[in-house]
Amino acid sequence: MEFSQLNLIPEILDAVKDAGYKEPSPIQEKAIPAVLSGKDLLGCAQTGSGKTAAFSLPILDVIARKKVESEDKPKIRALILTPTRELALQIEECVKMYSKYLTLRCGVLLGGVSQKPQEKMLREGVDVLIATPGRLWDLYKQRLLRLDSVEIFVLDEADRMLDMGFIHDVRRIAGEMKQDKQTLLFSATMPDEVIKLIDDLLHDYEKVMVDPVSSTVDTIDQRVYFVDTVNKHKLLLNILRDEEVPCALIFTRTKHGADVLTRRLTKAGIKCRAIHGDKSQNARQEALRSFKSGKIRILVATEIAARGIDIDGLPYVFNYNMPEEAEMYVHRIGRTGRAGASGSAISFCNFEEQPILYDIEKLIGHKIPVIAGHGFPMSDFTVKSQGGGNASGTRVTEAVTSGSFAPPPVSKFPKSMSRPRRPRSFKKMR
Ligand code: AMP
Repeated sequence: MEFSQLNLIPEILDAVKDAGYKEPSPIQEKAIPAVLSGKDLLGCAQTGSGKTAAFSLPILDVIARKKVESEDKPKIRALILTPTRELALQIEECVKMYSKYLTLRCGVLLGGVSQKPQEKMLREGVDVLIATPGRLWDLYKQRLLRLDSVEIFVLDEADRMLDMGFIHDVRRIAGEMKQDKQTLLFSATMPDEVIKLIDDLLHDYEKVMVDPVSSTVDTIDQRVYFVDTVNKHKLLLNILRDEEVPCALIFTRTKHGADVLTRRLTKAGIKCRAIHGDKSQNARQEALRSFKSGKIRILVATEIAARGIDIDGLPYVFNYNMPEEAEMYVHRIGRTGRAGASGSAISFCNFEEQPILYDIEKLIGHKIPVIAGHGFPMSDFTVKSQGGGNASGTRVTEAVTSGSFAPPPVSKFPKSMSRPRRPRSFKKMR
């Protein structure tokens, strides 16, 4: 299919052409006509599928066609809510790119920075507003903006909104908009609470499902190394050197872990920066810019800070720590292998992290190849966390830890060795 078959106005088609898009991605092919028809939409699509354009292009089309010229300043006609600041900025960048031949104004509201410039932007008026829920609600309560003019409301990454505790703000914000607005809701996964939200927010909607979250991109080369925590940084340095990794995004579990790893890499002469929730918004943006421009080689990030980061042609993603939930794995590795490009996703898994590896393999429907024979084979078979599936702090099996046992790939665990089960409170524990 061609973009020209989607009934978008010429100004938008020209901008899409300038962006270098040759043909619509599957989600765009399905979502654009649905949004143009005026219906509500439920979009279930993997990160990197092109979902930003899937909602932005038809929104701009609808707004531009119905442009109200007589107004002295624009009113907010489309509101895009997204969970993280990085995502908000990325969406703004895309909307600006797609609307470059239109006379529409777009702006962004996000926390962690001064609200003064945002107040000015709101005073001058915008047609399309992209926002994170906390700052938007904050400014709304201060009566600095109105929501009753919103015609199209986009709720991006609804499942993340829930995970990040934004759901109340989202519901409050949705309640302030007029009933007959058009609502587009995107979510990679469909937990019960998202289903409840869909029931409450969407009416007579069209459902577009592309690449459910369980299908990781085929072009990504995935592998896992079993390695003790104390050796992870050494293994990482070896891989960075041996594979001449040009640049990589590395996920750690905690902010502290991100800082420690950044210091270690810097000490080893590798240019890198960390982004996480304790860094100011400016520091995060600066780190991201430096990474995108090639000034630094490695970006170390926690899950939340890196959520949705879009870096063209990113060749490597490392899971320095395994994610807390299987679905996060798919989101994380989706940062590489975008738009058909190849990429590598390398995971470091210690003994305690193995239960989540089984969950991931179940979710993606196949085993992740285990790389044996590396320089730092796993030798610590203890479970240190409280409330683990195995008695906390105890050796799992004598037979395994004694002698010259080298840990076999996950799929070949000897029957005598009890597989560590995922503790019920795994998430809380961490
Ligand atoms: P998204 O899923 O919206 O984060 O998009 C992922 C990446 O795909 C972004 O870098 C977009 O610029 C790019 N992209 C979106 N639509 C297309 C398309 N039709 N053809 C090529 N690249 C695209």
